Amino acid sequence: MAEYIVGKESKIPVYREADVVVVGGGIAGIAAAIAAARQGKKAVIVEKNAALGGLATLGHVCVYLPLDDGVGHRIFGGLSEELLHSTIQYGYNDLPDCWKFRTAYVDQPEGRYATTFNIPAAIFAFDELCEKEGVETIFDVVFSEPIMEGNRVLGIICESKQGRVAIMGKQFVDASGDADLMSRAGAATRRKASICSHWAYEVELSTVKKAIEEGKGVLQALQLRWLGARPHGGDLEAYPVPTFQGTTIDGVNGYLKTSRKLALDYLKANQRPDYAMITLPTMAQFRTSQHIVGMSTLNYETDAEKYVEDSVGIVSNGVGGEVVQVYEYPYGGIVDGKVENVYAAGRIVSTDEMMGWEMMRLIPACAFTGEVAGTAAAQAIDQNATAQTMDVKKLQHVLEQNHITIHMSEDMKGNLGKKTTVKYDSKHFYMSNICISSVELNAGYEEMY
Ligand SMILES: Cc1cc2nc3c(=O)[nH]c(=O)nc-3n(C[C@H](O)[C@H](O)[C@H](O)COP(=O)(O)OP(=O)(O)OC[C@H]3O[C@@H](n4cnc5c(N)ncnc54)[C@H](O)[C@@H]3O)c2cc1C
Repeated sequence: MAEYIVGKESKIPVYREADVVVVGGGIAGIAAAIAAARQGKKAVIVEKNAALGGLATLGHVCVYLPLDDGVGHRIFGGLSEELLHSTIQYGYNDLPDCWKFRTAYVDQPEGRYATTFNIPAAIFAFDELCEKEGVETIFDVVFSEPIMEGNRVLGIICESKQGRVAIMGKQFVDASGDADLMSRAGAATRRKASICSHWAYEVELSTVKKAIEEGKGVLQALQLRWLGARPHGGDLEAYPVPTFQGTTIDGVNGYLKTSRKLALDYLKANQRPDYAMITLPTMAQFRTSQHIVGMSTLNYETDAEKYVEDSVGIVSNGVGGEVVQVYEYPYGGIVDGKVENVYAAGRIVSTDEMMGWEMMRLIPACAFTGEVAGTAAAQAIDQNATAQTMDVKKLQHVLEQNHITIHMSEDMKGNLGKKTTVKYDSKHFYMSNICISSVELNAGYEEMY
């Protein structure tokens, strides 16, 4: 096989021009585009799949983890909070009553500010919201490479049903989940392999019967089947779990095939008339693949409670977790030192490789960095600035007006060393029926890939 071929030079038609072009329509991309549109900018989302939501919808992660810190403070406001409410706008939620009215502080909350949601209902709500905000979503178009002039991106080349097209823009947001645009524009990035874990839904007549008897809704009769590994759990030595790179063809295919093989093995072992698998994720469920090494970063071990001058908002550990310390996330975490007009959003932002990443990859944090990236892109136009010369004070001001808390309160500082008084515990039947089957991960999978 030849090592490479030389492509032919050709004219590429310009399909669209916009102020802010967002690559990827996951939670981060949706927030970025809406934030830019609300600053009066023409924003488009370029999405390779057929619907909005990314991992949160097509990847079956319909668990909007907490917006609060576990001791009563709302941490994530702005679009993070708004998108949570969008996911449950058309039914099905388990949001505790105390958080229904979007309060900033609840004394003695009866639950976390979190919810599970119905995937199709969330997709419809995202479509509707984008349309209402004047965001154009372009589906079934894959970003392939940036058109560069020095360190500036002038446009992106995409593959589509009508061949290669160019989409031109003034500012860009990389919400691809994989830092595709940032890395190809020359930004510093780090790659990381991901464990394989398959999330899908199934139905069993006995659980449907039980749900009906208990007066629950139809969605509460579904079960989430979790095959493979947990992020930090399990004895990985005893059950060797293959890991995959989300930035290579082999890695993505390895993940998808392993994930489906796990599901098929499970199905073969469960051939019963009262049981059926009813959904399959339509994107590879990578927790991580590549993130930027920004101008600054967040370090979970050393940065708790630290005052961060260029903070663009606060974050806390939302994993129904025990530790409730609060962090200020730096503007420098979403920008590269060289690339002038691209902002990182979502699970690709700059963090340490363990707990910082764990905190910033969750849905509320992805919506938050999405909003920051979209607002920064709009500000760059208004300020005639680059990512590196941005007047961060002005950016902070706009974010604050949009209900993002920039610096933690004295009260939140009291969180250090505290543990949650309320844990995240979904009332949903299906969530309480997560079935872990790492045992199925035998040595055979390692040999396959
Ligand atoms: C198995 C699993 C369980 C998880 N559990 C939870 C949980 O319980 N709660 C929680 O809060 N978080 C959870 N997470 C994390 C969370 O779901 C994700 O980190 C978050 O949804 C990522 O959002 P994002 O917008 O940054 O990226 P993504 O959701 O990955 O969105 C990226 C989008 O970009 C598109 N795209 C990619 N490349 C291109 C391209 N070249 N051109 C055009 N479009 C492109 C993709 O199709 C996708 O729509 C989990 C993740 C996984 C994998």
